[in-house]
Amino acid sequence: MSSSDFSTLTLRVELPAAIDSLDYESMTPIQAQSLPVMLAGSDVLAQANTGSGKTAAFAIAMLNKLEEHRYQTQGIVICPTRELADQVADEIRRLARTIANVKVLTLCGGKPFGPQLASLQRAPHIVVGTPGRLLKHLEKESLALTNIETLVLDEADRMLDMGFSEDISKIISFIPDRRQTLLFSATYPDEIEYISKSIQLNPVTIKVDSDFSANQITQIFYKAPKPDRVQILIQVLKFYQPESALVFCNTIEQCEVLVGELIKRDVHALALHGDLEQFNRDQVLVRFSNRSTSVLVATDVAARGLDIKELDAVVNFEITRDPEVHVHRIGRTGRAGSEGLAISLYGAEETSRLNAIEHYLGATVNKKDPSELRSVVKESMLPKMVTLFIGAGRKDKLRAGDVLGALTSSSELTGANIGKINLFDKFSYVAVDRQSADRALEILSDGKIKGRSFRIKRLR
Ligand code: AMP
Repeated sequence: MSSSDFSTLTLRVELPAAIDSLDYESMTPIQAQSLPVMLAGSDVLAQANTGSGKTAAFAIAMLNKLEEHRYQTQGIVICPTRELADQVADEIRRLARTIANVKVLTLCGGKPFGPQLASLQRAPHIVVGTPGRLLKHLEKESLALTNIETLVLDEADRMLDMGFSEDISKIISFIPDRRQTLLFSATYPDEIEYISKSIQLNPVTIKVDSDFSANQITQIFYKAPKPDRVQILIQVLKFYQPESALVFCNTIEQCEVLVGELIKRDVHALALHGDLEQFNRDQVLVRFSNRSTSVLVATDVAARGLDIKELDAVVNFEITRDPEVHVHRIGRTGRAGSEGLAISLYGAEETSRLNAIEHYLGATVNKKDPSELRSVVKESMLPKMVTLFIGAGRKDKLRAGDVLGALTSSSELTGANIGKINLFDKFSYVAVDRQSADRALEILSDGKIKGRSFRIKRLR
């Protein structure tokens, strides 16, 4: 039995079965280091990236001491964004599914208030939310935190960057001092130290060597002068042919410009940045995660908390001034044991940034000449899937099975032609493989979903 084996932990009986069902064979480094300490009840200050397995770490610690027969809110996780809150809540629910009746509620901004009030009629065991909305519920007394045992701040650095520190302090003033406080942060600026001192009691500091993810990532830098950079990016995409690539730009404007340039050159790309409306943001995320868009161009802020599995490549269209941000960016590929590729494009004027990264990593990075990218045959850059939009969702009692059933009813299409189905309240998306897309559109447009006719559209 190795020290990273989950069976080395003393857990309540239900949890090992849940962990098994998720196929988590052994603990990730952050789990191996933090879980024994958290289970013993200590406060923890952990430096960990998305992809390190941090969510399962605090979720297990929180669930292990949950008294599910007590209908009081015992755990709270504060997150910077709605996406992260949704992912955290999902992971907690997955780990809680072997414990009867655990209620996990997300309370995030950008969502209607009324349904949240209704859900709070019976106190959830665990709430996961964003600062502004949590505070609003506390001020309206629709949420009570007087019985909190565990407080988690997730991506604390990000929340500070977003200016949430005052809201967080106010939220914490509603929570009893006698509690366990777990603070997770990808980077470790002075303010984190300061906030830790003000809200934690003798925390155990845990730092996971960034080598854990870095050693599964091939990192290559290509010299790419600004005027040639779009062309070099396309060569990179054609050479490595990642099925999903996240391309980072430093500004929203650059994201927009780059997406325009890529589309002009027949590369299917979408932009993800803070200026998008929620509807568009959700749609972009759906299209990227269901593999109907292979290139997502994002800012750091927008990409935070993005949990896309099997991200083949991260490309820095511009390298960042902050080496920690660089390491965080490239840590998104090569997750959960799979190999990743991180490509960075830089110009002569960015040499000092490159030097800063090398200094930070304590190693020289692999630099190659873009001329090496030329030899590859021209492959089609079209993604393998296509997304169809359906103008009906959960509120119309639509289920994924209804969409799948409609598409496969004539047996012209099988489950193998159909990818992810994402349901929202008022609309849904289904991914189908490119060859079947026209037929799938016809089938759905013929009004075969539950015998009803909904608006169907192919997204370009
Ligand atoms: P996180 O760092 O919490 O965003 O987790 C990254 C991904 O790793 C999530 O998709 C988890 O479901 C997954 N994960 C967490 N713990 C383990 C583990 N012990 N073994 C394999 N995958 C894990």
